This record gives sequence, C-alpha cells and structure tokens, in this order.
Amino acid sequence: MSADLVIHNARILTMDDKHPRADAIALTGNRIRAVGGNAEILALAGSKTRLVDADGATVLPGFNEAHMHIFGGSVALGELSLFRVKGFDTLSKAVKDYAAANSDLPLLVAQTADYTILSETERVTRHHLDRIIADRPFMMVAPDRHTAWANTIALEKAGILHGRDVGVGNEIVMGEDGLANGELRESNAMRPVASMSVTGGREGLGVGTGGDPEHVTPEERAADIAVLKKGLAYCASLGITSFQNMDGNLYQLEMLDEIEKTDGLPVRVRMPYHMKNFMPLSDLEEKAAAWNARFDTDKLRCNFVKLFMDGVTEGETAVFVDDYAHKPGWKGEPLFSGEAFNAVATEANRLGLSVAVHAIGDGAVRMVLDGYDASINANGQKDMRNRIEHIEVVHPDDIPRFAETGTIASMQPTHPPGSAGLPLEPYLTYIGRERWPYAFAWKTLVDAGATIVFATDWPVSPLPPLSCIGDAMTRTPWADDMPDHRLSLHETLAAYTRTSAWVEYMEDRKGVLKPGYLADVVVLSGDIEAAAPAKIASLSPVLTICDGRITFEEGGGR
Ligand SMILES: [Zn+2]
Repeated sequence: MSADLVIHNARILTMDDKHPRADAIALTGNRIRAVGGNAEILALAGSKTRLVDADGATVLPGFNEAHMHIFGGSVALGELSLFRVKGFDTLSKAVKDYAAANSDLPLLVAQTADYTILSETERVTRHHLDRIIADRPFMMVAPDRHTAWANTIALEKAGILHGRDVGVGNEIVMGEDGLANGELRESNAMRPVASMSVTGGREGLGVGTGGDPEHVTPEERAADIAVLKKGLAYCASLGITSFQNMDGNLYQLEMLDEIEKTDGLPVRVRMPYHMKNFMPLSDLEEKAAAWNARFDTDKLRCNFVKLFMDGVTEGETAVFVDDYAHKPGWKGEPLFSGEAFNAVATEANRLGLSVAVHAIGDGAVRMVLDGYDASINANGQKDMRNRIEHIEVVHPDDIPRFAETGTIASMQPTHPPGSAGLPLEPYLTYIGRERWPYAFAWKTLVDAGATIVFATDWPVSPLPPLSCIGDAMTRTPWADDMPDHRLSLHETLAAYTRTSAWVEYMEDRKGVLKPGYLADVVVLSGDIEAAAPAKIASLSPVLTICDGRITFEEGGGR
C-alpha cells in the first residue's frame, strides 16, 4: 500500500538522536511510515499519494506548547490587544476605536496592558480610564493576567466600588478616598467585573477557581465551543500539534471532548485537574483520578494536577525567600501552607498523577521543591515528572534540587522583562540587582541537570512558537556582568517538541519523527538552521499535520 502523504526535498530535524536528519518522510493513516532519503521515501508514493515538495525548508515534529490557556486565549482573539501600546493618548485611541466598533458588548475587555502602559512611574487608576471611557464598563488586563484595571462604572456595576474582602493573595486596591482605585489583583478581585463580559467570564474559571460555570444555556455553550474551535484552528496555523492547557475544569474538558467526537480535535490537548487551597484532599482521588480515567486518549487526556503557589512579582503577590527590594518587610504570601502543599503533592503522586505548580518567586519555588521532596520521602523515588511553572527567580541553593528531585522546569522565553516587547520596570527594581543573575535562569538550570520545556503561557504572551523560539535565541542580559541564558537551537527545539512529549508520558509515540510514531508534523517556510536568531520569528508554518490530518495549509485554509 502506498503512503498517504510524502514530504520530500526537506531538511528534516527528527529530534531523534539516533537518526537526527533526513530528507523525506512518508505518512500513512495517523502514523509515520518511514523517514529517510528522498529516493527511498519517494518509492513509497503511489498515484493517490499527496506529494509535498518542501523546497529545502525545515520539517519538525509538530510543536508542543507546554503551558497555555486555550479558552482565555481563544476569547482574547476577539478582544482588544494592547500589545506594545504605550502612553495615555495611544491607549485612549485604541480603547475608543474598539468601543466604537463593538457597541453591543456589555463589558469592553482589553488584554496585554503593561504595568507601565502610562509611564514607568505612574500606576493606572480608574480615573485614567474614566478619562478614556466613562459611560461603558471597561477593564484592561495585564499580560500576566494577575492584575486588571477597571473604570468606575465597571466597579460600580460589579458592586465592588466600595471594596470587598476577596481572600488571601487577592486584593481590590483601595484609594485614599475610601473607594476602589481601579486596580484588581488576582482572580477573585477581577471576577466580579470579568463576569459582566459577553462570555460571562466563563473562560476565566478554569484558571481562576478550577470550578465550572453555573446555569450555562445551550446557546452560551454553543458560542463557547465556536470560540474554542477558532482558538484550536489558530494553534494549528502556528504549527502546534499538541498543547498543555493549564486551565483545569470539567466544562472545558467536556467541550473539547465534544469537539473531538464531532469535528475531531485538530490539536492534541492535555489538561490538569486544578486544585485550589479550599478544596479537600479527598478531591484528588474522587475527582482528579476520576477525570484521569475518563479522559485518557492520545487526543485528550487529564493526567496531572495544577496548583498556584503564588501570584506575580509586579502585583507583589509572588513569594520570595527575602524581602522585595523596593518594599522591605514584604516577601509575599503563599497560597498553600508548606504542610498543605506537601500533602497534595504526596497524594497526587501516590495516585499516579504528576503535579505542575505555578511558582514565580524563589520562595514559592522552594516550597514546591520541598513538596516534591516530601512526596519522594513518602512514595519513594517514582517517575513522577512533576514540574514547576515559570520559575522567574530561583534561589541559588535550590538550583541543584531540580535534578535531585527530577523536577521539570517549565519556562517562558517570552516572559523576561526586555524580551518580546516587555518593559524592564517595575520588575527589575522589585526583585533587586542581587537576584538578577537567578531570574529566568534557564541555562543555569539546564547546566545543573534540570529538564526544561518552553512555552508562551498564551494569552499572557503571543502564541507563535517560532517567535518564542526566536526570543529564547536572542535573550540579552540585563547588564554586562549577568549570565548569558541562551540555549542552542537544538536544545530550544527539544524544549518545544521531544521534551514536552516526555513530560506528558508520550515519548513512546510523539515528539520525534520516526517510524510508527504519531503523524504530527510541521513544515516551515524556510531553513531554521540557516536563519539568524533574530530572523527565526519571520519564518512561518506552511503545513501542519496532526494525527495524519492536515490541520493547516498556507493559503489553502483546511
Ligand atoms: Zn499560565
């Protein structure tokens, strides 16, 4: 039988160390049939085989985005993006134009508003926003999604203008006049406003509470599925064949399952069970393990537990070992006690579930490593593939502990201040110069034996993997005496393909191009090895194949 599809005349980087390079690849059904030289592979083509001439361009295993948020990202595709918007006048024009073009929206939402969108020194308040738009509720969200700013009418309609206790680690920031000043820190503070949006804020629940929306009408659910499908198609257009959706709730799992059973998912999805600090430990066995059993295919699986240990540095909610440099006496407050987290990590691992924890400050990172140690002490050294998300700052004493505990570093080359259009301040001042060498220190961690995966945390940062790979390759130190954290192209690509498949326990079927593996392939527009690092982002996928099916084709739609 001839192959269904043959890509030839390519520079294939298989990411398989035994056979790292090839010229051609043949696919049959949803599997890779053969990888090798042009003549040998073309011999597998028949009259019905689709032939793709790659014209010397790079072919890779499809990208596996190890940390993103599909629902929020999909919704954000239709919201105002303030990426690279700077200064009051530019902001004002962008918001007014968006408001005029969207006269029916109950809440105007803008994403990726830098903490320094007005200036390096002036923090946004509701009064600034009222000067832009006062008669319609408006909220803009920081790139990290841990802080938002709302205008007065939005705060009033949400019932939080006079403040409200929103729980530890969350804050409705109050002004000197005794009213909310417009800044909302963390999800409990943002939710009253966000829930006024056209989607009712349903896209925020998986990451916010881990819970499911109540009273969803069939029309609302259909609208949410339509939004998700747009987001999934967007992923495919960027060469993504797998992603790890760091939101965890049943609502999203069931919608994705329905998409798989109707249209077929164009991207493989791994999702966690999201454990919050108010949930009883027994939920791990009763819910997380049950979801793991219920969603367990190569297209959709739920085999890990996600938690947040802290917030973000700019919101002063990240947890550090020592005080914030600009705020003596303040280290941040963890979202779990050490004891509580140790119990969660131990129980999840006992049930065979990996753990992934958001930890930004070095204090939070340390608590997570302590929890993984506790699990090893209780369960023995099992192959748990636990991970830490972000690791913006690591304490030097904790660097070797990644290798010792087998903890995966899940990091975002798009996040260091100064990268991907992000401002340097207030971040650099908040952490202080002594901590700079240990910030976003992925090379230091890799050199110390840590396993690393890369991702964008979309919609926190723009999703295109090639841009993110370019950011990793062009990272510049904040000062001449700071370490160079660039990894090689091969290491960077591995962090987007082979290693992220391993993290999912799927290294026996995807992440490399070799016979018998799942047919997840991306063909680029040029030769990535010949491209200067600064030009990698200008390459683009021309063909994406997931599970043997063409999910994106340049110029051809699907
Ligand atoms: Zn995230």
